[in-house]
Amino acid sequence: MNPPDALLGALVGQYRITRELARGGMGVVYEAVHEAIGQRAAVKVLQDLSGRASSRSRFLNEARAVSLVHHPGLVRVFDFGELPTGKPYILMELVEGESLRERLARGGPSLEVGTALRIARQIAAALCAVHARDIIHRDLKPENVMLVRDEEAAGGERVKLLDFGIARLVGDGSVRTTEGVVLGTALYMAPEQCAGSDDLDDRADVYALGVVLYELLAGGPPFQGEPTAVMRQHLFQEPPPLPERLRLPGELPALLRRMLAKEPSRRPRMVELAEALQQLERGVFVEAPGPDSRELARPPGGPDTRDGLPTVAERRPPPASLPPPSRRWPGGRVGAAVGVVLLAAPAAWVVTRKPEQPRAPALDGMVWLAGGVSAWAARPRS
Ligand code: ADP
Ligand code: MG
Repeated sequence: MNPPDALLGALVGQYRITRELARGGMGVVYEAVHEAIGQRAAVKVLQDLSGRASSRSRFLNEARAVSLVHHPGLVRVFDFGELPTGKPYILMELVEGESLRERLARGGPSLEVGTALRIARQIAAALCAVHARDIIHRDLKPENVMLVRDEEAAGGERVKLLDFGIARLVGDGSVRTTEGVVLGTALYMAPEQCAGSDDLDDRADVYALGVVLYELLAGGPPFQGEPTAVMRQHLFQEPPPLPERLRLPGELPALLRRMLAKEPSRRPRMVELAEALQQLERGVFVEAPGPDSRELARPPGGPDTRDGLPTVAERRPPPASLPPPSRRWPGGRVGAAVGVVLLAAPAAWVVTRKPEQPRAPALDGMVWLAGGVSAWAARPRS
């Protein structure tokens, strides 16, 4: 039997920890209640990862990154700091709902087209707000998307994005992962992430959202298998066409293909994508009742998008700090070079380009590429 968790009953600021909610790759998430006013909150405490400074700073990245942006699609951060034991914590809004992964497990494996478009649009809207502050999520996947009830939002629910643990502030070294280390989950990783590029922009999140949307529609992600095989496919293989039985709006397959383009410059920017998804969603609502007839019960005029598109202030051009696309992702050449490495690689391998760097512990479901290092744990992490 595991020893009782010493944090149960402990005070974090004025909040007392009452129970464990979940264990993820980086931390344990608890529910806590404010001693005086009874407000409930969530506390994420960094797991002991053999004292690696990089895990600690990645963990605190999350608090800083998210607290910079206010959007209903993001979890609000109340506070962050260190417990008396020295473990860093983030005190945040308690999200009550289920993850998109849980929704797929419960009602999936796929969702109705209108529902999939609504969820994708809400994710895109939240990411637009994040990107407008030059932050890239870099680990978007169904496990990191929560669905919460909200009568004000389209479909009676809204998404809340979690887990900015490996988010990076573009053009600012203060919020970033360790130099040379690329983290992400292979299934949702953009080709440039697979290639270990440190030069990511919003289009890496566009790609990940493309994989998520593909999965919501098709019932599974486009590329599957061992992580190195999945990464090879991200780099070199076209996604299989969506099943014909799906009655998709005409433009959706083409939009998905653009989202999943190997070359970032061929993908839509997130702002454009949010608008395109909204248009498609409207089309689904006005079409004759089909697989989405439940959604047609909504009032005329299409979905309620108060939670949808970014405000004008959020529709900023890409940050000036970003280099031009040609410099950012020299697709073919780097891809070919990486491909040679990947093709030669066994399913789990370690190649060290920077021997001075400590070998990263493999987190569940994550791929670590530390200067060319890839280690894998096949179980999806939360
Ligand atoms: P990790 O980096 O460990 O994956 P996450 O932020 O994804 O961390 O959290 C792990 C799990 O904890 C989530 O899948 C979710 O179930 C739960 N969780 C995280 N943040 C909250 C929150 N603010 N409210 C409620 N549950 C949360
Ligand atoms: Mg997570």
